[in-house]
Amino acid sequence: MSAFELDRDLDGRLILRGDADYEDIRSAMVWNELKPPRYPDVIVRAASERDVLTAVRLARSAGLRVTVRGGGHNWVGTSLRDGGMLIDLSQLDACAVDPASARASVQPAARGRDIAAALAGHGLAFAVGHCGSVALSGFILSGGLGWNPGAWGPACLGLEEIEAVTAAGEVVRCSEHGNADLFWAARGAGPGFFAVVTRFLLRLRPLPKAITTSTYVFALPEVADVTSWVSEVAAVLPSMVELSVVLGTAPATQGTKAVVVTATSFAGSKDEAARSLEAFHACPLAERSLTRVTRAPATFDTLFEFSDALWPPNHRYAADTLWSREELGALLPSLADDVAKAPSDKSVVLAIIPPAAPAGNPWPDMAFSMLGTSYAVGYAIWQDPAHDQANLRWLREALGKVGPLATGHYIAETDLPAAPSRARRSFTPGTWERLRAVRARWDPDGVFHSYLSA
Ligand SMILES: Cc1cc2nc3c(=O)[nH]c(=O)nc-3n(C[C@H](O)[C@H](O)[C@H](O)COP(=O)(O)OP(=O)(O)OC[C@H]3O[C@@H](n4cnc5c(N)ncnc54)[C@H](O)[C@@H]3O)c2cc1C
Repeated sequence: MSAFELDRDLDGRLILRGDADYEDIRSAMVWNELKPPRYPDVIVRAASERDVLTAVRLARSAGLRVTVRGGGHNWVGTSLRDGGMLIDLSQLDACAVDPASARASVQPAARGRDIAAALAGHGLAFAVGHCGSVALSGFILSGGLGWNPGAWGPACLGLEEIEAVTAAGEVVRCSEHGNADLFWAARGAGPGFFAVVTRFLLRLRPLPKAITTSTYVFALPEVADVTSWVSEVAAVLPSMVELSVVLGTAPATQGTKAVVVTATSFAGSKDEAARSLEAFHACPLAERSLTRVTRAPATFDTLFEFSDALWPPNHRYAADTLWSREELGALLPSLADDVAKAPSDKSVVLAIIPPAAPAGNPWPDMAFSMLGTSYAVGYAIWQDPAHDQANLRWLREALGKVGPLATGHYIAETDLPAAPSRARRSFTPGTWERLRAVRARWDPDGVFHSYLSA
């Protein structure tokens, strides 16, 4: 069948390698300016959910292996593989809110910023990713460490149902009550999921009416004392307070590399916000801070502004993650030394103490695997292609030094090509085996690519 005939069956477009605009479209599939040199034979730009079904059926009949592009934010561009068909979902970005049931039906490429705005209009919210440009798709399929993780958990906890096109070329709905094994995998399998999700049904939360942030900025050499205080205060802060530590140059550091500790309270009222941040404001190191801002009112928009400044568009990126059972104090001094020596002043390390399930209310069984009690991600961020090797080396060396303390990685942001074991080490051993079994059931012929590895 010719490309012209295939195109006729689609509401969107089919692009072949060799077409005049192939390279522009291929490189636009990845948000990171560091574009991987991998080239699909065919790109289908789906303009409708029907197109996704058509594309999977075409790929099956032509023997093309399939990858999927949601919002394009995977750091290593997992949607780009050599050969086969890439199904681009970027035009599927609708978000339909049903305030009466506090549910939203969201298409894959809807961005966090747009979802948050649509929900806020109804006094509702969801645990979207920290940057406004992160689309729902690959984020929630990876588990999704979004805003307010202490109270809301990983984003996939709020997933009630998905609609997906399977490797057999059928449309299925999956939830805890039907096709439960595929739903279990959709809650965490990330960039190795073996169906194309066209709709996510989300369970929403009341919008916190008094989001409030407080921030201390400390000189980088203070990292050991600051981190030990962070561990102490994290143990007493209520779950509605999200605590993060950034090592590097952030908007609040006025151009110097520093340790930035931010507490964001997702409180329902000003009084609740003040109470929730009391322990944070009792910081014994406050007088040693270079700058501090306390009780700043925030909205999802201002939170996105802060994050978008740290992870700006149009830059080259490399990222890597680790979970650890050590306290942050065992990880951050070494990482701070490396941040001080980073070839790019924009590079940062982010660390959090991950959310835990409330006592007596365990999270449901799902593929998302939280493999430690502390979590760190390093990001090399630069612009000049001439500095690629120096930045890539810096990240691998910095994370390599704390590597022996790692108990695993987070599938959303790990540097998959760094080692073939990266995907496996992003799940508990039992989850990994079960993922393989569920894949074998839903994609026995390997229509979908599995995890990208070295
Ligand atoms: C600026 C930035 C900020 C980020 N912030 C966060 C954060 O706060 N928390 C967090 O947890 N992560 C965060 N991430 C990581 C991000 O969640 C993951 O990289 C995620 O994979 C991106 O999803 P995507 O759909 O945009 O990616 P894409 O590159 O489009 O897709 C990645 C892979 O996901 C799979 N996939 C995507 N959509 C579908 C679908 N509809 N059906 C089936 N498979 C699909 C495919 O295997 C695809 O190859 C951030 C990334 C960036 C670049």
